[in-house]
Amino acid sequence: MRVLLKLSGEFLAGDLGKGFDEKILARITDEIIEIHQAGVELAVVIGGGNLFRGIGSKSVGIDQLTGDNIGMLATIQNALMLSGVIRNKGVKARVFSIVQMPYICESYTPALAKSALQKGHICFFAGGVGNPYFTTDTAGVLRAIETECDFLVKGTNVEGVFDKDPRKFPKAKLYKSLTYEQALSESLRIMDSTAFALAKDNQKKIVVFDVSKPKNLKKVILEQSVGTVVTN
Ligand code: UDP
Repeated sequence: MRVLLKLSGEFLAGDLGKGFDEKILARITDEIIEIHQAGVELAVVIGGGNLFRGIGSKSVGIDQLTGDNIGMLATIQNALMLSGVIRNKGVKARVFSIVQMPYICESYTPALAKSALQKGHICFFAGGVGNPYFTTDTAGVLRAIETECDFLVKGTNVEGVFDKDPRKFPKAKLYKSLTYEQALSESLRIMDSTAFALAKDNQKKIVVFDVSKPKNLKKVILEQSVGTVVTN
């Protein structure tokens, strides 16, 4: 089984709101290693929101293009951080960036990435899609398609996809499954529309789950017992 895990950068910040929460780094890398040791070929796309998002450009006084470039660099920093912690635990992890910086990490190509996954190396795909005006959700779907992952799991801080925001509406209904069409038309805001459109056109299954709960990564990938499944 080959799976792509999409994490937001914000997740790495935990309660700190910005930067890196060491407890989160320790826990999520343990969970990633557990999945890897169960024999799953694992790719990871991580966002950059704990460091910078292009959307914050205006308030700082820079244009969005520059802000998005800073955001893409943030995703590389996060990939370096997670892969570094994993390697420190004795497991092979590699960073492939679409934004080339050969001194710091390997350059992404689908062929190289697939070969690394086949060798059992945990692979981080960094730099988003390599273009401003995109997000790492879209990068996650794109890389999952290119590297022929069986499905993509998207970590959030709620159980899955609800009909309303469950933090505002306690009676919000959790969907067990959903079509891409529904996700797009009901603007459920779990992923941006570009990411969903790409998943729909290429029939890449997405499972949205709560990564803030310990052990859920195993439950969503190995047991497939939590989260909301988005398919055709
Ligand atoms: N970004 C970009 N192109 C991409 C991916 C990311 O320009 O292909 C920039 C964009 O500014 C974005 C930031 O990097 O706000 C961080 O990525 P994202 O918002 O997806 O991170 P997350 O919300 O998942 O932490």
